[in-house]
Parts: sequence; structure tokens; C-alpha cells
Amino acid sequence: MAVEVSQTPVRSILTRTSGFLRTVASHSLQPYRGCSYGSALCGVGCYVRHNGLLTRGRPWGSFLEVRVNAAQRYSERVEAERRWAHRQGLFSIFMSSSTDPFVPQERKFRITQSLLEAMADAPPDELIVQTHSHLVTEYSDLLVELDSRCAVRVHLSIESDRDKLPGLPPPASTVARRFAAAAALRDAGLRVVITVAPLLPIDEPDAFFARIADHADAVVIDHFIGGDGSTGGARTNRTALPRAMAAIDPASVTIAYRDRMIDLARRHLPGHVGVNIDGFAGRFLSP
Ligand code: SF4
Repeated sequence: MAVEVSQTPVRSILTRTSGFLRTVASHSLQPYRGCSYGSALCGVGCYVRHNGLLTRGRPWGSFLEVRVNAAQRYSERVEAERRWAHRQGLFSIFMSSSTDPFVPQERKFRITQSLLEAMADAPPDELIVQTHSHLVTEYSDLLVELDSRCAVRVHLSIESDRDKLPGLPPPASTVARRFAAAAALRDAGLRVVITVAPLLPIDEPDAFFARIADHADAVVIDHFIGGDGSTGGARTNRTALPRAMAAIDPASVTIAYRDRMIDLARRHLPGHVGVNIDGFAGRFLSP
């Protein structure tokens, strides 16, 4: 699907979190509206693809609005948002919950880059970078610099050990490239968490979690049942994902499957396995 790209100034960029994201961070931040990866594997079950306020009727993956003044808005607002956050706890930013900071268009528009540079001047207490793309490695120097001023955690999603799952599109970034990215970021000194989110059918789970243990500091396992912020996975059940998963492996749409994967992961990464939203919040991580 072709992606229609537009450039749109925004009035604000730091959003106070609500709902299940409140557990994870005080604020979320989207450098873009929409996501170029919406037609890729992760887009099939994407939690926001049916959010009419966001899509305004456009198919998910067909549009990307570039928030051209994002860094300026961050700098204007950061101290007020910091004061607000500190009344309750940490000033923490989750980037991003409804787009990917490293869409291919980032190479041209550099919105995420400008935001990271603005954060280096006025850092939050904690920054969680959430991505499905190996392109995050292009900013590893910036992230390392920021990590010297605040706690940076990179969440790299790898939902399965397979690039080709029958009935589903390929991922935006191959499994091999994402593992290589995880290793490169960790070698640079960054804390890397693999988010198996949403947990998809895995061919060789034992080898998969062993590979994660070799490439990252921790893993989060997030099954759409109990993990998508709705009761019984209702939000994901509106998408084509559960049916496709069941066709590949009927067991994969059950909580018993998730629990089996958690047990296996714990064998390879004892003390470093998070589950669902508490996992995203890093509750299992040592300081
Ligand atoms: S990268 Fe994230 S926001 Fe974009 S389609 Fe995938 S899951 Fe959705």
C-alpha cells in the first residue's frame, strides 16, 4: 500500500498518558501520526488501527503525518510537563505508542532525531524507545548520549522467530536484522529489551528465547489476551490477527500458550522476563 505523506504542525507533542499506558510512563510522544509499517506484520493486530480519531477513516498504513514542529513543541512544554509529572512520580516518556519513531521517512524528515536532540538539552527522567525497526541503530550515538543524562531503555519488538507466517504479511524488518540491531545497541552500552509483542506462533521457542538471551538484557512477553488493554483481547479480536494465528497454530490464541512461553523464557533469562503491561513498565528490571 502506498503511504501518503503530509507535513503537519502540531499544537502539542507531549501527551499525558491515560488507560493502560499510565502504568508504563507519564507521557507518550508520537513523532508522526499514522505509521508506514501499518501494512507490515505488526500492523495487522496494531492496537490503534481501528482508532477513528487517529485514522479519520483512512486505512491503517496508508498515511503518515510528519509532525514538523515536534522538537520545538517539546522544548516549549517540557518544564511544565516535568513539574506535573513530578507531583506523581517520574517524568517518563514512551516513544511511541501509535507510530514507530523509525519509519523509513525518518531518514528524510528527521523528526525523531530532532526530538532526541531536544531531549538531550532537557531530558526526561526516563525514555522508553519502542520500535519494530532495525533503523533505530542509526541513532545509537544519540541514544547513548541521552543515556548519560537519563535512563534510556530500547524496546525492540520481535514477535516470532519466523519472517514468513502463512496468511500474514512480512515484518517491516527481518528477524535477523532486528536481532543484529539489538546486539549493536547493547554493544553500544544501551539497555535493550526484546518485546515479543504481540506473541505470535513461534517455530522453535527454546532456540528463540536462547537467542534473545544472547542479544538483549530482558524480554517482555505480551499476548493479545490480557495484553492489549481490553477485556479478553477484545481490541485485537476486531482485527484479522487472531484468526491468522489460530490457522497457523490453534494453541497460540490461548493463555496457556503464553504461559508456556513465559516458562521457557524464564529458563533462558531468569529474573529478566516481563509480562504484558507490567513488563513494558519494566517492573521486573533491576535499577
Ligand atoms: S510499528 Fe507500531 S504503530 Fe506501526 S503498525 Fe506496527 S505496531 Fe502499529
